[in-house]
Amino acid sequence: MGKRKFKAESKRLLDLMINSIYSQREVFLRELISNASDAIDKIYYKALTDENLTFNQSDYYIKIVADKEARTLTMIDTGIGMTQEELEKNLGTIAKSGSLHFKNENEVKDGHDIIGQFGVGFYAAFMVADVVTVTSKALGSDEAYKWESKGTDGYSIEPAEKETVGTVITLKLKENTEDEKYDEFLEEYRLKEIIKKYSDFIRYPIKMDVTKS
Ligand code: ADP
Ligand code: MG
Repeated sequence: MGKRKFKAESKRLLDLMINSIYSQREVFLRELISNASDAIDKIYYKALTDENLTFNQSDYYIKIVADKEARTLTMIDTGIGMTQEELEKNLGTIAKSGSLHFKNENEVKDGHDIIGQFGVGFYAAFMVADVVTVTSKALGSDEAYKWESKGTDGYSIEPAEKETVGTVITLKLKENTEDEKYDEFLEEYRLKEIIKKYSDFIRYPIKMDVTKS
């Protein structure tokens, strides 16, 4: 599969994300962690009814790896993963139910904090990253695929290597400018602070690995 264009609706949301104001950007982490948690939930619920599947609590976690040298932030989950078709359907368009729905809990009720008060979904990654790569292997599939996008231009999907079921999302953080800094998202204390603020209720362990200072 070669280059694909986003649907018009998705492109508008992407533009909103890319041009969001500085203070709202941290919510990207909430969105990616909530997706990872949802993906693990899907295995959990499947295991309740599927006798061929057992859910061992210790196999299911979310891991965040910050690489200061490469300026990448990677979110790894052992959730249900996505097939090639699901990558196309879920990340090529805004989830019909999903994005831009109001959240009631843990929100700053501040007039300026528009984006922060909504569940903005996967595209929130583009508030802090100029390249987003999603490598995924779906439960029950032998194949893995890589979805990659640099933002509004579109995206590509290609076969990839991945041993285990689940999803790896790598954000290539935007370059710092005079007024806008992104390095904070590579700092352990800062990541922990954001997780505490928005993702305290997540039922699965969130591990962290910060490399090369
Ligand atoms: P929502 O979570 O509200 O449905 P998102 O934009 O956050 O909307 O995500 C869109 C869809 O992409 C999700 O519904 C899910 O199907 C899929 N998705 C996103 N992240 C993951 C992930 N880590 N593992 C599996 N599926 C994912
Ligand atoms: Mg979501």
